[in-house]
Amino acid sequence: MSRPVVIKHPRRIRRIILSCKSKQKTIGFVPTMGALHEGHLSLIERARDENDIVVVSIFVNPSQFAPGEDYSRYPRPFRKDMERCSEAGVDYLFYPSARQMYPEDYSTWVDVKGLSQLLCGKFRPVHFRGVVTVVLKLFHMVMPDIAYFGKKDYQQFVIIKKMAKDLNLNITIKGMPIIREKDGLAKSSRNQYLTENQRRESLLLYRSLKEARQAIQKGLKDPQKVIRMLKRTLFSGPVIKHKDIDYIAVFHPDTLEEVKTIKKKCVIALAVRVGKARLIDNIEVTI
Ligand code: AMP
Repeated sequence: MSRPVVIKHPRRIRRIILSCKSKQKTIGFVPTMGALHEGHLSLIERARDENDIVVVSIFVNPSQFAPGEDYSRYPRPFRKDMERCSEAGVDYLFYPSARQMYPEDYSTWVDVKGLSQLLCGKFRPVHFRGVVTVVLKLFHMVMPDIAYFGKKDYQQFVIIKKMAKDLNLNITIKGMPIIREKDGLAKSSRNQYLTENQRRESLLLYRSLKEARQAIQKGLKDPQKVIRMLKRTLFSGPVIKHKDIDYIAVFHPDTLEEVKTIKKKCVIALAVRVGKARLIDNIEVTI
């Protein structure tokens, strides 16, 4: 187990990567905001399997948080993250500062129109512009062959894929399955915000999604009925109320357009505020 080399400067990571590439090494890249858990580790493991060099970035990206969101209290356990990266065989840990990524005169933004305005975008209007911009900046610095994203953030994955296609990036974007706790809660750095009661109630998210998938697989085709079913389960405990739901949606896996009737494939996704956490989860359904 060897420690990854920690690199803070964009120019230095570029130099190292160019040297790796000159030796015909392939680069796998996992961008993260840190507070690493098994979800992140599953992406790193896959990157380890498929590439010569694995680069992980840890950057809590200020531009994807709106004022009042959790930017300042987002967990930043760097030492622990470093250990996890060592155990997972990461070669380079890119750890830039906000000042390096966004100098004072910074003014360029990349926006994937349409997709970024749906679902989470309705409630977090600047979020995906920040995500796409930082991911593109990181891609220019790390120059990966393959970049790995979790389908936990399903919309983000689709938007990054679209950006890579629209801008002719020579990078394969891979979407990886959601890793869950034993009881079904999707792993997330933000689960730490939950009290014990809230955490217990949060299990209703995945339970409702599984029930809905089962109903669709048994023949339910009307998304409105599916959404009503989900709500019944979500509201069956004492904590989650109507006002806590940002959205529940049944949509096409590629276009993210909400469907009128469910055909072969769809994704059911939801965003629910539980205490101080805004939880997102989803399930892919194939009939
Ligand atoms: P974050 O640090 O939250 O920005 O996440 C970094 C990457 O890890 C993103 O591609 C996420 O989708 C992915 N990720 C986060 N949680 C999970 C999870 N539970 N399962 C799979 N991937 C995840």
